[in-house]
Amino acid sequence: MRVAVFSTTPDDQLYLTEAAERAKQQLVFFDTKLDATSAPLAEGAKAVCVFVNDLLDAKCIEELAKIGIKLIALRCAGFNNVDLSTASSHGLTVARVPAYSPYAVAEHTVAMILCLNRKIHRAYNRTREGNFSLTGLLGFDLRGKTIGIVGTGEIGTRVATIARGFGCLVAAYDPSPNPACEALGVHYLPKQELVSQADILTLHCPLTPDTFHFIDRNAVDTMKHGAMLINTSRGAVADTRQIVRGLKNGQVGSFGMDVYEEEADVFFRDLSDKVIQDDVLARLMTFPNVLITGHQAFFTHEAMTEIARTTMASVEAFEKTGTVPTAVILTA
Ligand code: NAD
Repeated sequence: MRVAVFSTTPDDQLYLTEAAERAKQQLVFFDTKLDATSAPLAEGAKAVCVFVNDLLDAKCIEELAKIGIKLIALRCAGFNNVDLSTASSHGLTVARVPAYSPYAVAEHTVAMILCLNRKIHRAYNRTREGNFSLTGLLGFDLRGKTIGIVGTGEIGTRVATIARGFGCLVAAYDPSPNPACEALGVHYLPKQELVSQADILTLHCPLTPDTFHFIDRNAVDTMKHGAMLINTSRGAVADTRQIVRGLKNGQVGSFGMDVYEEEADVFFRDLSDKVIQDDVLARLMTFPNVLITGHQAFFTHEAMTEIARTTMASVEAFEKTGTVPTAVILTA
């Protein structure tokens, strides 16, 4: 089956080409994002394969339906960028990669915690300039600190496991508590209590209407003064302007950000010779206690291999049976 693959990097092309050969699928790569304007590029294909910042709103899906697209294959877990109801009303199937390597994201989360706590990002720059002073690099022992996890699914559970290994106390908020986490000694708390008790708060829930701006003005104001906040879930789970305010008044002690509300126009691109137009992002980049990575938490060899394999398996299954085991089902 011919598949139009959007938002591709050379790494995507490498892993997907290998998987497509095994699944006997034909791929056409575009580095452009998929949205209503670029949708006609998929003409001649039966499926589109997309990533986190492609915008599959109603208009885009109508364009895709017009040119005969039958399958939207997301090569990620989240599906907040797809208008599921329009896809369903046009008879388009939506597939995703429910789990590839939760370890990749959990390990990146912990890397951000360690880097921010021990100021590795600052030490790296300092020592390269011959500055071996320790002033400003004071950290704290993780052992005995409370890590608060929002969302204890695949990724949150791996973060809890690693945190327990460090001797941390682990608390969590999730409307569906996970017995595997409870067995690790994780204590579930109401949202407010979790936010106010955590020394490190880390977000691992999906972006839904319920979790939009989960970290809002009130959450920032009721956090433990100077607590660390990490977001590797989806940008809009946190209100970035409120985090900037919290960083300025010291309420937020440090912030690790792998995902950003307005990342679609910035991430996955080399803008090093351009002026950053986004003032909130530009402000965040000035704080010494902010660490930004450009949606790279998933980016390991194991995760890329599994993403490509599952995505092509979904395309192959759809070609043969008209259904996919990884379909995103529209719930009321
Ligand atoms: P998952 O579905 O296994 O777990 C999500 C958990 O969030 C579930 O336990 C669910 O009950 C919980 N949840 C739902 N609504 C909630 C709410 N209102 N408050 C608190 N918890 C809530 O998903 P996962 O594989 O662990 O991934 C979590 C998220 O991480 C994904 O949705 C995606 O947005 C993000 N992600 C980011 C990257 C990256 O590279 N940065 C990679 C993969 C996934």
